[in-house]
Amino acid sequence: MNVTVFGTGYVGLVQAAVLAEAGHRVACIDIDEHKIERLRQGHIPIFEPGLEPLVKRNNESGNLTFSTNAPEGIAHGELIFIAVGTPPDEDGSADLRYVLTVARTIAEHMDDKKYIINKSTVPVGTADKVREEVTRALAARDALHLEFDVISNPEFLKEGSAVADCMKPDRIIIGTSENASEQKMRQLYAPFNRNHDKVIVMDVRSAELAKYAANCMLATKISFMNEMSVIADKVGADIESVRQGIGSDPRIGYHFIYPGIGYGGSCFPKDVQALKTTAAQLGLEPEILNAVESRNHSQKHYLLDKIVHRYGPDLSGKTFALWGLAFKPNTDDMREAPSRVLMENLWQMGAKVRAFDPEAMQECERIYGNRDDLQLCGTRDSALSGADALIVATEWQQFKTLDFEMVRSNLKDPLVFDGRNLYHPLDMAEAGFEYYCVGRPQQA
Ligand code: NAD
Repeated sequence: MNVTVFGTGYVGLVQAAVLAEAGHRVACIDIDEHKIERLRQGHIPIFEPGLEPLVKRNNESGNLTFSTNAPEGIAHGELIFIAVGTPPDEDGSADLRYVLTVARTIAEHMDDKKYIINKSTVPVGTADKVREEVTRALAARDALHLEFDVISNPEFLKEGSAVADCMKPDRIIIGTSENASEQKMRQLYAPFNRNHDKVIVMDVRSAELAKYAANCMLATKISFMNEMSVIADKVGADIESVRQGIGSDPRIGYHFIYPGIGYGGSCFPKDVQALKTTAAQLGLEPEILNAVESRNHSQKHYLLDKIVHRYGPDLSGKTFALWGLAFKPNTDDMREAPSRVLMENLWQMGAKVRAFDPEAMQECERIYGNRDDLQLCGTRDSALSGADALIVATEWQQFKTLDFEMVRSNLKDPLVFDGRNLYHPLDMAEAGFEYYCVGRPQQA
């Protein structure tokens, strides 16, 4: 099928590459000329396992093209995805400017029937807004005879495993009331729907809300466990035992109940905020979502509180090694990452940071530039050199084992603040480390 994808970010680029791999002819359109030029040369702007060979292979075969030419893209695709950003507006609601701009552009250039598919995460009612925008622009060029439908098809990929998630989706939600649209979407996704039927068809509004409900549920699980970890710290319980104890109940399950230093990324924070705003606009008090957000905010400061408790509020003269900058492993994304709250507060208190991340170093440099109090180090071991203590902010696989001797010989003091509970307090105590983590009693 001929498909066009507007937006070559995490969602648009991965979805486009995966559809091309399945044999569809996919045109990617972005307004970012630099990004498109680099993509044409085979440079992938984000780190996502498995994405680079997929993009290269399909680009070379001609199944996947990159351009800034929107009219050409619109002429190409019978199915047109909108996969542009929906960042938070000033009041916390999703900013639909980019989505509606694409809708208008499609209407200004389309010559035949189009299936317009909202892939971006958008508040309930956005499909209606897109429909209105397209109708208005068609009317302006006297082209109301041109047919179109607006379909909601939210994306559930996870950064860090986005390619695998799109290749083998858990579910494919299609929000439409039109039979023709449902059939087109089923045809599009047929290569990913062979094992069993993963397509769930529903009305547009339910599809739009399903995406927010999914992310808010996941954020709730994290904030709940984080709150338990704070209680565990106070009562002298071990949150890791609690986690295993409750995860064994199949109604709860082991997934997504790791305590830590808060969720980040481009989705959970903004989607919780956007759903809160939707509720508030409807006169509802989003009590659970308020609590989820508030716990997440406190949790991002939780390790800092332990650092201040240990050293006092004046950290001038102190240097911390920081392992992990990305908001989670297997990505270079630092949007809303807990590491940023940590670093920015450490700097404010006068400390210096020696940081290492397997993938997010460039992103960190882009965000913070050159500063005296930040040293980006080429390896995890070199980040330790001469630091007063180690802080772990992201649970990358390569941080999960600690070479005690190496760490001890590089740090000034054998002291670790672990925001991801990667090590066992007993092992740390036995190795002579002073060890602070989240929700686990300190061992003497
Ligand atoms: P992103 O910021 O990485 O990419 C968005 C892209 O859209 C950018 O390249 C930008 O230049 C481009 N763009 C903006 N206006 C455009 C226009 N008029 N025409 C063409 N391109 C345009 O965003 P993302 O992370 O891919 O997220 C996109 C949407 O998908 C958001 O609504 C997000 O909430 C949702 N989503 C994201 C994830 C995720 O893990 N990142 C997962 C599921 C859903």
